[in-house]
Amino acid sequence: MARLVIASYRVAEPKRGAAAGGLAVGIADALKARRGLWFGWSGRTAPAPSPEPDIVEHGGVGYARIDIASADHAPFYAGFANGTLWPLLHYRLGLMEFDRAALAAYRRVNAAFAAALAPLLSPDDLVWVHDYQLMLVPRELRSRGFAGRLGFFLHVPFPPPDVWCALPQGSALLESLLAADLVGVQTERDRSNFLACCAHCLGVAVTDGTVVHAGKQTVVETFPVGIDTQGFARTAARAALGRAARQLRESLGDRLLIIGVDRLDYSKGLINRFLAYDSLLHIEPSWRRQVTYLQIAARSRIEVAQYRALRRELDRLAGRINGEHAEFDWTPLRYLTREVPRATLAGFFRLARVGLVTPMRDGMNLVAKEFVAAQDAADPGVLILSAFAGAAAELTEALIVNPHDPQEIAEALARALAMPIGERRARWETMMARLREATAAAWAKAFLDRLEACPAP
Ligand code: ADP
Repeated sequence: MARLVIASYRVAEPKRGAAAGGLAVGIADALKARRGLWFGWSGRTAPAPSPEPDIVEHGGVGYARIDIASADHAPFYAGFANGTLWPLLHYRLGLMEFDRAALAAYRRVNAAFAAALAPLLSPDDLVWVHDYQLMLVPRELRSRGFAGRLGFFLHVPFPPPDVWCALPQGSALLESLLAADLVGVQTERDRSNFLACCAHCLGVAVTDGTVVHAGKQTVVETFPVGIDTQGFARTAARAALGRAARQLRESLGDRLLIIGVDRLDYSKGLINRFLAYDSLLHIEPSWRRQVTYLQIAARSRIEVAQYRALRRELDRLAGRINGEHAEFDWTPLRYLTREVPRATLAGFFRLARVGLVTPMRDGMNLVAKEFVAAQDAADPGVLILSAFAGAAAELTEALIVNPHDPQEIAEALARALAMPIGERRARWETMMARLREATAAAWAKAFLDRLEACPAP
């Protein structure tokens, strides 16, 4: 079996492995089975990038990590990756900033990753590069002589040509991805957008989802990312009996819980979500005092100005909503701007009657899947889900809403709160059956099987 080499910006702590959540859950089995290597950033900066990674082994898996040059980290990460690419890939041209110096830092960091990784590779390795921070790594690896099988997966959305083409020098990024044998994306919409951008920006031929560029063939396919469904369900069942869940339940009394859990990011639609709740309390006053909305929004990317501005706006709005609607013994909105341990979140999801997941645009949105997995089969809650989350393609029994319309979200909230148990169960069972199949491990296996099936170099 070929060795698996993963390259991603962040790498799980070796001792925590899959417990770290996210990507680690999906690739844990594959890394173990293939005695793999996980390559990425050490979390440290240094005057110059490390020429050689620091390598440790844990549980049969190698972890190779490099430092990023101090002068490059901010323009690479806060600058090009999260100030330019993140808004662009989430269709938010109005928020996109561009500066050539930041692009140059992004190029240098991607080149440094490839330069440190290439010497560790052998020709029959399966190399799998992840996400928008490392879009130039495929081409950099090829130019350093790696000719083996190379895959790339984009965890975030891919926009249509009219949006993508606004990115100066965007063609270089597309060309780099086409140095891979397999490009994976989350949904059919992302796939058709990516192919349209290849045709439009590079003028290449696209046939049956395969792109031929500079004599090389790249397959583009859809692999919706999953979660460890059974594991999360077990964690939720256990955590619902724990101390934090008990305290939350006691504090709620008979009130129904609406929950939202996100990074504090403008792609998550938090402003419209707050406005929707405000609207519910106005248009359906019978729900006043009967509900509590708990929004947990972990602070994120505070080095980027747009994130700080969003935080201020949400603080203001939360204050306004509570000021207007609260009673001396009822706080309608509980708003926390920090991280909460995964298990605690799982228990909270299980207590909630409604999971509110309304991003303006999201590659997948794992919170939607976690909410479903955490429910009690006998008394499941209702998921309200944005049509523009990748998860909406699979979780079709959620109440699907347009996140641009707070009124529509408010109507969905009223419907979800009043939904009879029979309908709640029927919707939940269908979604849960799908999530039991489409796990994170199945996602990684599908991608790697497809990559292995690409013609040998
Ligand atoms: P994104 O990758 O854009 O942050 P996802 O919904 O796909 O969005 O994944 C977010 C992950 O981070 C989920 O596993 C979720 O449980 C976790 N998460 C989100 N917000 C918090 C928080 N406030 N505290 C702890 N974990 C969080």
